[in-house]
Amino acid sequence: MSLRFDGKVAIVTGAGGGLGKTYALELAKRGCKVVVNDLGGDRHGTSSSSSMADKVVQEIKSAGGQAVANYDSVEFGDKIVKTAIDNFGRIDIVINNAGILRDVSFLKMTELDWDLIFKVHVKGAYAVTKAAWPYMRDQKYGRIVVTSSNAGVHGNFGQANYAAAKSALIGLSNSLAQEGAKYNILANTLVPTAGSRLTETVMPQNLVDALKPDYVTPLVTYMVHDSFEESGKVFEAGAGWYGTIQYYKSKGKVISHASADDIAKNWSTITNMNGAEYIGTITEQSARLVSILEEHEASS
Ligand code: NAD
Repeated sequence: MSLRFDGKVAIVTGAGGGLGKTYALELAKRGCKVVVNDLGGDRHGTSSSSSMADKVVQEIKSAGGQAVANYDSVEFGDKIVKTAIDNFGRIDIVINNAGILRDVSFLKMTELDWDLIFKVHVKGAYAVTKAAWPYMRDQKYGRIVVTSSNAGVHGNFGQANYAAAKSALIGLSNSLAQEGAKYNILANTLVPTAGSRLTETVMPQNLVDALKPDYVTPLVTYMVHDSFEESGKVFEAGAGWYGTIQYYKSKGKVISHASADDIAKNWSTITNMNGAEYIGTITEQSARLVSILEEHEASS
């Protein structure tokens, strides 16, 4: 095992089961000290118990690793980070993984369905990362992962709340990547697909069994390692496939003083993705727009 984490401390939220459990076990196996956070509730975000996190901590310890349990909801990120500092003296890695589902069609969605999803996924990732950030900044080292979803990238029927929250996490991670760059804090987004208690309600059992969380674990492990250099990117894993998702913009068309009719007339050119360009940052996009404005000025 050449990718080691000796001396490093990680928080894995929602590590009592599913994907998070595999991350905690793998990091601990590679020498990382791990805070195993899990509220221990059901998949809809109600109830709580300490047993899920405790079991994972026991498994890590009996394999000779170091771990401590934390049972706070991720919205109390400061308490989770305090567990890392009190027990291990530092925090290097945050894997924001905790999650719930409240799937329902938009028509029937209640404000509670919306708020709970945002509380766990978005507020949770914010709160844990926010509490870890000053430590990472001071030590000039941090590895942050947020967990999005193909629902966040593409949208999904019955998941308007979840898709919106998962999409928000991409924006969070991409922004933290820019703010963290000068402090060697890297932030990236993971898009996983795996059989778990979250997906067993929407996938047939044979798919749940086949899509092992362990297919996702190696990617996350590399994403939080010392040697990883990417930041502000989205990476995907599932079924043994690993890849990246990036934003490309069409070449489009510059039309001075366009009317709606001009837009309609040129629609196929505007939306033609042949020769589309990768745009990595808002700075690159702003530079593009400034040069177009300059062209307008020069031609008028
Ligand atoms: P899971 O239900 O097995 O794991 C989620 C864990 O988070 C549970 O152990 C749960 O107790 C814990 N949790 C829930 N609310 C919490 C809170 N407020 N504070 C602390 N812990 C809390 O599901 P999973 O499939 O392993 O999901 C892990 C993450 O991956 C989630 O963010 C999920 O949205 C995301 N995801 C999963 C898939 C997939 O195919 N499984 C696809 C896309 C995204």
